[in-house]
Amino acid sequence: MFSGDYEKEFRYLFREKTISPDPTVYIFISSRAVPSDAPPGHENWYVMINVPENTGQDWDALIAEARQNIVEKINRMLGTDIERHIVSSSVADPRSIEADTASYRGALYGLSSNNMMAAFYRHPNFRRSIKGLYFVGGSVHPGGGIPLCLSSARIADSDIAGNH
Ligand SMILES: Cc1cc2nc3c(=O)[nH]c(=O)nc-3n(C[C@H](O)[C@H](O)[C@H](O)COP(=O)(O)OP(=O)(O)OC[C@H]3O[C@@H](n4cnc5c(N)ncnc54)[C@H](O)[C@@H]3O)c2cc1C
Repeated sequence: MFSGDYEKEFRYLFREKTISPDPTVYIFISSRAVPSDAPPGHENWYVMINVPENTGQDWDALIAEARQNIVEKINRMLGTDIERHIVSSSVADPRSIEADTASYRGALYGLSSNNMMAAFYRHPNFRRSIKGLYFVGGSVHPGGGIPLCLSSARIADSDIAGNH
């Protein structure tokens, strides 16, 4: 469910370091494909929005406001009253992601990749100075996301096999 003004949404994120009042909302319901992912008669909604890096914002206030905006948007777009169907919910935010995974400011994809040179700054899959040490995954070459992580594994595997 896209924001009415996608560019403005990103101004909120990168300039104001806050959440757009009209966020783009991504929803994934795995129990539609795998029914055992949710209790019988229920669904597991994974609802995600874009948020800024953790720079010490009042996340509890931002989350409360965003939750209300998301619920209103879902209700408006689906013609429903989603709140009354919610049995339980939990929230991950840049604070908890940072605390749980040690990622800088809660970054999901390692180093910022917002400029032309970013691809060249990614950490390589090996280190010349320490023979036998390899790196694989979303924060190293070639980048984040499952397809690139699998490429990363293939490259590291090939390096280990001596093809580097
Ligand atoms: C909210 C969100 C949505 C995403 N959506 C998508 C999407 O739709 N499509 C897509 O392609 N990508 C998506 N991604 C990106 C993708 O999930 C990641 O790029 C990818 O999972 C990274 O893989 P990884 O193996 O590097 O790290 P991870 O998948 O994080 O695996 C690292 C593992 O190491 C474990 N670990 C950490 N420390 C230790 C330790 N000391 N000892 C032992 N184990 C340890 C962790 O528990 C974890 O299981 C999303 C990411 C997030 C956070």
